[in-house]
This record gives sequence, C-alpha cells and structure tokens, in this order.
Amino acid sequence: MPRRAERVAHFGTTVFSEFSALAQKHQAVNLGQGFPDFDGPEAIKQAAIRAIEDGVNQYAIGAGAVALRRAIAEHSKRFYGMSVDPETMVTVTSGATEAIFDTIQALVNPGDEVVLFEPFYDSYEAAVIMAGGVPRFVLLRPPEAAHRAWWFDEDELRGAFSAKTKLVVVNTPHNPTGKVFTREELELVRELCVRHDALVLSDEVYEHLVFAPARHLRPATLPGMWERTVTVSSAGKSFSFTGWKVGWAIAPEPLRAAVQSAHQFVTFATAAPFQAAIAEALRLPDRYFADLEKDYRHKRGLLIGALEEAGLRAFVPEGTYFVMADLDGTGFDDDFAFCRFLTAEIGVAAIPPSAFYGPEHRAHGRRLVRFAFCKREETVRAAAERLRRLPEVLARRGA
Ligand code: PMP
Ligand code: GLN
Repeated sequence: MPRRAERVAHFGTTVFSEFSALAQKHQAVNLGQGFPDFDGPEAIKQAAIRAIEDGVNQYAIGAGAVALRRAIAEHSKRFYGMSVDPETMVTVTSGATEAIFDTIQALVNPGDEVVLFEPFYDSYEAAVIMAGGVPRFVLLRPPEAAHRAWWFDEDELRGAFSAKTKLVVVNTPHNPTGKVFTREELELVRELCVRHDALVLSDEVYEHLVFAPARHLRPATLPGMWERTVTVSSAGKSFSFTGWKVGWAIAPEPLRAAVQSAHQFVTFATAAPFQAAIAEALRLPDRYFADLEKDYRHKRGLLIGALEEAGLRAFVPEGTYFVMADLDGTGFDDDFAFCRFLTAEIGVAAIPPSAFYGPEHRAHGRRLVRFAFCKREETVRAAAERLRRLPEVLARRGA
C-alpha cells in the first residue's frame, strides 16, 4: 500500500458511495445519495444529443462555452436582478464540486481559517484540508420550541471568526437540513465578513428547491456582499441531470480571476455538449421552475407522512430534497448503525449525517438520519410501504 500524501491520508470513502453500494447489495429503495431516479426535461436531453451530433465534441473554452456563460448571466438577472458580465464574472466547472474546490484552492492559504456550518456538505471540509486551511465549525441546531427552523447561536458564529478567517461557506438552501438562511442570518454573516475582511463562498445548488413561504435569498445580492462573494451553483438539482456535472462560479472580476486560475489547472474545461444543453435549460420558462417546486413539495409531503407513520420525527425542510429525522425512540444511538440496519433489514437506504460534522460536534449527527425525496412517486411510495414495518421490527429488536 503506497503511503498517501498527508492531504488525503484521513479521507475514507464518502458516505454517498458507501450507502449507494449498500443499497444495491440489499436491493433497498435508495433514499440515500441525492440523485433523482428520473431524467430531466426531454427537450434538454435532445439538446445534448443534438450537440454531440452537431460536432460539439472537442474542448470547450476553458472558462465555459459562451452560450452557457450568457445563459448563466441571464438567469442571474431573471431570478435575482443581478448584472453579471458573462465574459469576466463566470467560470463554468465540472459540477459545483469543482467550483467549490477551485474557489478554496484559489483563496485559502495554508493556515487560513474557513468557517463552516455543521452539518456541512462533505466536500467543503475535504477541500479546505487539501488547501492546508483550518476549518472552524459553527453548529446548526434542530428546530425546537423557540426556533421554528434550524438555527445557530449568534455568539458561536461571532466566536468562529478571528484575524485568521479567510472564508465563510454558506450553503442555502442547506444540505442536509433543508434550512433556508434568512435575511437576518445573512446580514450577520455580512457584518462579520466586513469586520474581519473575510470572503464568502455561497453554495446555492438547491436555489430552485425552496418551498414557500420560505424564499431563497442570494447572499451576493445583499449590500456590500457582491465584492466578497463567490456564488456557486450547478445544473444537477435544478434540471435533474446530476450525472452531467455542469456547475459554475459567479464572482466579481478579481475573485473570478482567482477561481479561473485554479480551474484552468484542475479540469481546464467542462464537457462541451452538456454545456450546450444546460445553456438551453437555464432559459426554460418560469413555469418549469414553478412545476419543479410543486412536484417536490408533493414528494416532501409523501415522505414526511411515511416517516411519521413509521414513528420517526421528521424536521420539515424549507428547501432542498432532503428530510432529516431524529432517532429518538428507535433504540439506536448511532446513525451509521441505524442506516445499515434500515438498508439491510427494512430495505430503505438513508444517509448517516454524522459524516457531515467535525469531531467536536459529531455526536449531534449520530442522533439523526437523512432521507432524500428526489425520487419518482412510486419509489417514495415503495419506501413508505417498507418503512411501515419499522415499528414492529424495532419492537422485536428491543425485546
Ligand atoms: N453542494 C451541495 C450542498 C450539494 O448537495 C452537492 C451535491 N449534490 C454539491 C454541492 C455538488 O454538486 P455537483 O453535483 O454539481 O458537483
Ligand atoms: N449531493 C448529493 C447528496 O448530498 C450527493 C453528492 C455525492 O454523491 N457526492 O446526497
């Protein structure tokens, strides 16, 4: 076994790979890894096929195909009123994952601190570690009597900032909690970033999966935030083509130039025919985006109903296609053990959220489980059917 470099030495296999493999082994209904089990719009599939047939098959321009960068700028104007210059403010990447990696490589020096909200999407911590940065964690706490949504303690956030803070990662709507950050919360982030001269990486891959009355607020549109924010998104969730891996970063010229300088040596360019198709997707009428929300709202209701019927307390998400539930009353005090049991014995795969916490707060994740509802209605119903057995199987285990 070769000795791994320090920067990857402590990475295991991601929970997504582990639990998708386990789901397959047990032929479980997979509500774990967040990918739709259906395709995005037929017209967009046809656009990709057409691009391949039309010979859009060689390297794209490094910064991204012109048509896609224009479509990204138009989309920002349509939904957020932002003026984005497609020439100087956009880099197209291989999924949001690459945009996150590039941004962190481009902005974080060894020893710099990066503030992450826990639970966090797992690639943030890995990217910070690979850059030699130091993560500083701020805990998101579940809803309770005094807080109707996931929340954080203001003093904890203040305490996470220091002279060494280079970057804060905000993910709204938030995976895995489904939290949509409020204006007040984002204004606090702004105040602290201005005070400490810190930058923001805003991961908005779920920007179109927000359930009214919650509303998505793009942090870069708050006064004073544009200059210091790299906004990241991708086509995976909004158009149900996670496998195409088309993402992007939007930022003011100097920040975008930094991201671009990393991007050119990470992947150089992203798959050309998919860029052509996503340029069309971003121009779909408002109706498409409204229907997406409506469809997911319906599935959210189905899954929450199923979880409650199975005796699990679910936290209703304001956005994303994930639901967190707690393990109270299941007899389990370890989310990995619960998810392995659920996959093998009940036939439903889910994700153990403790993988999304740093060491200090990991125990908070051990009491939770994440389910995805980006699935066909029949898949969610099949999972519901299997989950119905949960109380009885748990009772037998306890006996
Ligand atoms: N950020 C978040 C919060 C995610 O949940 C995901 C993944 N699913 C990504 C980034 C990665 O997006 P992509 O598949 O476009 O790389
Ligand atoms: N973002 C997806 C999720 O949270 C999975 C992405 C991945 O497999 N890396 O489920």
